[in-house]
Amino acid sequence: MAEFIPQESCADAHEAHSLSVDEARQRIKNLITPITTWEKRSLRDALGFILDQNITSPINVPPHNNSAMDGYAIHGSDLTGSTLTLKQVGIAFAGQPYIGTIKSGECIRIMTGAMMPTECDTVIMQEHVEVNDTSITLHGKHAIGQNVRSAGEDLQQGETVLNQGHKIMPADLGLIASLGIAEVTVKRKLRVAFFSTGDELRSIGEPLEDGQIYDSNRYTLYGMLKRLDVDILDMGVVPDQKEALRQALQLASVQADVVLTSGGVSVGDADYVKEMLVELGQVDFWKIAMKPGRPLAFGKINDTLFFGLPGNPVSVMVTFYQFVNGALQQLAGLPEQAPQLMNVNCISSIRKRAGRFEFQRGILFQDEKGLTQVKTTGEQGSGILRSMSIANCFILLEEQCDGVEPNSIVTVQPFSGLI
Ligand code: AMP
Ligand code: MG
Repeated sequence: MAEFIPQESCADAHEAHSLSVDEARQRIKNLITPITTWEKRSLRDALGFILDQNITSPINVPPHNNSAMDGYAIHGSDLTGSTLTLKQVGIAFAGQPYIGTIKSGECIRIMTGAMMPTECDTVIMQEHVEVNDTSITLHGKHAIGQNVRSAGEDLQQGETVLNQGHKIMPADLGLIASLGIAEVTVKRKLRVAFFSTGDELRSIGEPLEDGQIYDSNRYTLYGMLKRLDVDILDMGVVPDQKEALRQALQLASVQADVVLTSGGVSVGDADYVKEMLVELGQVDFWKIAMKPGRPLAFGKINDTLFFGLPGNPVSVMVTFYQFVNGALQQLAGLPEQAPQLMNVNCISSIRKRAGRFEFQRGILFQDEKGLTQVKTTGEQGSGILRSMSIANCFILLEEQCDGVEPNSIVTVQPFSGLI
C-alpha cells in the first residue's frame, strides 16, 4: 500500500520562515536592558511606580501587644476552669493605655486596639462576662493568651516588607504607611510614544470621505498604556509618506523610551515604515507564526526600543498584549512574571489549521453549576474589534493544534484588566 505523505499547503510554506511566538519573545527579551534612573517620591505619589529599594520595617507592627476584642484584660494564670470573679480596677482605650499595676484577681476593661497592660496576657470578650458594680464574673472555659494581638505579629522590626522591583499597589501604600515611611525611592516612569500610519485614517471629530476610516489603534493603545502606568505621548496619525514618517520616528525616538507604531509594516506598496526604520535604526522585520498579528517590526532607534505593530485593530491589541506588555515590564525593572493561564472546558467548536499559534477571543463564564467555562466570541477576523470588546480572555491554541471539538479542555489567558 502506498504511504500517505501529507502535502504542504501554501499556508504552511508561508509559515516556514516565521518565528514562533516564544522565539519572538526571547529575541525581544535579549535586547532589553532595564532602566536605572530613579527618583524619590512621597508615598501617595508613588502609586503605580516600581520600587527601587527594599522596604524594611523600622518598627514592630503592631508596636505593642494589644487587645483584639472589646472586653476585659486579665492574668491568664487566674483562669482555673471554674467560676471566677475579678475586681475591675481601671479601663484602657485605643491610644489611652491604663497606667498602674494589675494584681492577680484583678482586671481592667479594655477596648479593641488598646495596649495590653504588661501584667495581663489574656482578654475575655465582653459577651462572655457577667458585669457587676465593681467586678466581673466569668463562667465556662477560656484559653490563656486568647484575644491578644502580639507586638510584631504583622511585621517584625528589620524585616523586609517589599522588595526592589515591586510595583506599588493600593495595599502597599497602606503597608508602607503602617511603617511610618513617608518617602520611597522608585524607578522613573517609562515614556511611550505612539502614532498610527495610513493615508486612509482620520481622527475622531473629522468627517470621513470615500475610502477613509477612523483611526482606532491610537485609542486601544492609549487605553492599554494607561493601564500600565506609563507616560504617554500620542503623536497622532502620520500619512504613508517617507518624509513624514522619517520625521515622526526621529521625534518619537528622542522623546521616549519606547516607540510604537501601527500599520505599514507589511508588504503593501505604501508600507514605508520598514524603509524608514532600516534607515534610522537597527530593526528586524518578523513574520511570526501566529494569528492574528503575523508581521511585526522590532528593534531600536538609537537607545529607544521600537515596535512596529501590524495595522489591523485586533492584531494591534494581540501583539501589544503578547509582546509589548512584557517588554515594558522588563524595561521598567519589574521581575519576570509567568503568564496567568487557566485550563477550562470550551463549549464551542473551533476551526484551526496547524502551523501557527492562534490567540482567539473568548468569553469566560460560569455555568449553572458555578463552573468556569469558555466560549469563543464567534467571528475571529483581525479587523473585528468588537470581538476584543466582548471578550474577556484569549483562547490559546498552540501551533500544532488543528481544531477544538466542543467540550474539550483549552488554555485561556484572562485579560486581567488590561484590555
Ligand atoms: P496596514 O498594515 O497598514 O496595511 O493595515 C492593515 C489594515 O488595518 C488596513 O485595513 C488598515 O486600513 C487597517 N488599519 C491600519 N491602521 C489602522 C488604525 N489606526 N485604525 C484602524 N484601522 C487601521
Ligand atoms: Mg497602512
